[in-house]
Amino acid sequence: MNVYFHTFGCKANQYDTEVVRQAFADRGAVVVDDPARADLAVVNSCTVTHTSEAKLRTFVRRLARGGQGLETVVMGCAAALDDGTIVALPSVRAVVGGADPGAVLRAAGLPAEASLPFPLSATRSGGQGVRSRGWLKIQDGCDEHCTFCATTIARGANRSRPVAEIVAEARLLAAHHAELVLTGVHIGTYGRDRTSHDTRRTTLGELLEALVRAVPAVRFRLSSIEATEVDDPIARLLIEAPRHLAAHLHAPLQSGSDRVLHRMGRHWYTAATYRKRIEWLAERLPILGLGADLITGFPAETEADHRATVELVRALPFTYLHVFPFSVRPDAPAARLRDQLPPAPIRDRAAELRELGEAKATAYRAARRGARADGVVSGRQGGKVEVLTEDYLSVYLPTAGWDLRPRFEVTVD
Ligand code: SF4
Repeated sequence: MNVYFHTFGCKANQYDTEVVRQAFADRGAVVVDDPARADLAVVNSCTVTHTSEAKLRTFVRRLARGGQGLETVVMGCAAALDDGTIVALPSVRAVVGGADPGAVLRAAGLPAEASLPFPLSATRSGGQGVRSRGWLKIQDGCDEHCTFCATTIARGANRSRPVAEIVAEARLLAAHHAELVLTGVHIGTYGRDRTSHDTRRTTLGELLEALVRAVPAVRFRLSSIEATEVDDPIARLLIEAPRHLAAHLHAPLQSGSDRVLHRMGRHWYTAATYRKRIEWLAERLPILGLGADLITGFPAETEADHRATVELVRALPFTYLHVFPFSVRPDAPAARLRDQLPPAPIRDRAAELRELGEAKATAYRAARRGARADGVVSGRQGGKVEVLTEDYLSVYLPTAGWDLRPRFEVTVD
């Protein structure tokens, strides 16, 4: 069986796809890069925005038009919340909510034990060429209930993997990857759910310390972490061990207005506590890639709320922004909030923040130009090798001069 994989959404989804890809390969399936050569497509879906679900539907329809007898299995978050729309798309064989590789195998008609043995991660390159960066999932789910988010419904409560299992998997992955990105849905809450196996709860900082001790050659990177959940052990590693933990934080802000944060259900920080933690870190880190997610036009957001966000963004040393115009997710509580905004201010506020984000990114890049950086190869295309620095800048070098090492010093251009 030839199988084609496609992933929408976050790094946790990319990790899940890798796990499923490996499960198929282990059962003799051939992984192909071209859907025209596939008997089956596995599409890992995302529900974070209205657009991501629209893109999924378009993509599945396109697969159905292009493949001779191709069938599609849709897995992931949007699949978990499917109201019958996805299953009715052309050529869809099955819809599997979540990311259980056994369930996806069975949906494809392949045998699978009830629960697949560890390790499940992407320990091989899978024929995709150079893979110097890998993903290591440390937990799934989230115990919070942000009113704009349907992820909690799709992925369930916080479930942390045991430290020993993660460390063993990191050792395996280290044979193929110079950088491992710690992924999950809410990684800052790592360990808070674990009481029975561990004598006491292990925090994310303690997990990181164990990983750095076990595989010192690897550069770890945090995927996305709440600013106020960067505790002192994590901060210490960021400051004192930049070769082991990349100087990069993606810290969702969503809004700079406490009123809006309250309506979003984001009770664990305020604009002031977010700012204080980021400023404390930025003062101590000479190099810091800093990103944030922002939502514009949340229900009842006023112009004054938006100005508070703009001012906070101006004040902090962001090096890039991900700006999302608010879109109604029918499964998320925010869909039922009063005072939904018309499209124009949602769009205009997003445009303003994106412009600000681009200006900050350009200024940061200019400030780093000519500096040496710790580079890890992240891909190859068009005769160039893409190298990712510790602070999340991409540098492109001609493939011709590359000696195939996965990690080396580069000059930021
Ligand atoms: S913290 Fe909020 S936005 Fe993030 S996964 Fe949990 S509920 Fe969703």
